[in-house]
Amino acid sequence: MAKYRGPVCRLCRREGEKLFLKGSRCMTEKCAIERRSYPPGQHGQGRQRASEYSAQLREKQKLKRIYGLLERQFRGVFAKAERQAGITGDHLLKRLECRLDNVVYRLGFASSRKEARQLVNHGHLLLNGRKADVPALVVKVGDQIEIRQRSREIIPIQSALEAVEGRGIPGWLELDKAAFRGTVRGLPTKEEITLPVNEQMVVELYSR
Ligand code: SF4
Repeated sequence: MAKYRGPVCRLCRREGEKLFLKGSRCMTEKCAIERRSYPPGQHGQGRQRASEYSAQLREKQKLKRIYGLLERQFRGVFAKAERQAGITGDHLLKRLECRLDNVVYRLGFASSRKEARQLVNHGHLLLNGRKADVPALVVKVGDQIEIRQRSREIIPIQSALEAVEGRGIPGWLELDKAAFRGTVRGLPTKEEITLPVNEQMVVELYSR
């Protein structure tokens, strides 16, 4: 699967805010936004042109980058959300939030979504007792996500779990830390998906 291979902090700098793409480093003064909070590139410190289109584009880019998706993958999620009855923006957020890689991150098994995706890709996860190595899988209410027995000693998993209290687990998920297992108690509500993104502007962008 294609993926972005450039410098990650550059993405935050482009959006002008922290997108928390690098785990614990994002909380330190090494964060690039703390040191250079202007867009990257030769014209980064120049005057930015503001238009409705550019504002909508930035919101879409932010959402895409937070969940680590490329344009085509993001378009695919949007198309599915658009086909659902109700508010497309809400469905879009819920679909992204219920991706297996995001759930692994939210449960505290990984310190970033990128790390979570790697854990899933490398087969360290079980979904309802069966191997699940597709990060784009969408979880359902009642699903159980577990770290495989033989993977429980992996240092990044252990340190992510140690740090999870500071970050907190959303109310729609439940973590049994001792059993390395999480349960989906319900679907996330819009209020529980606290992201610095205006999803309605993303819908407007794609409706142009
Ligand atoms: Fe973004 Fe984290 Fe890099 Fe800061 S350290 S710029 S929040 S990815």
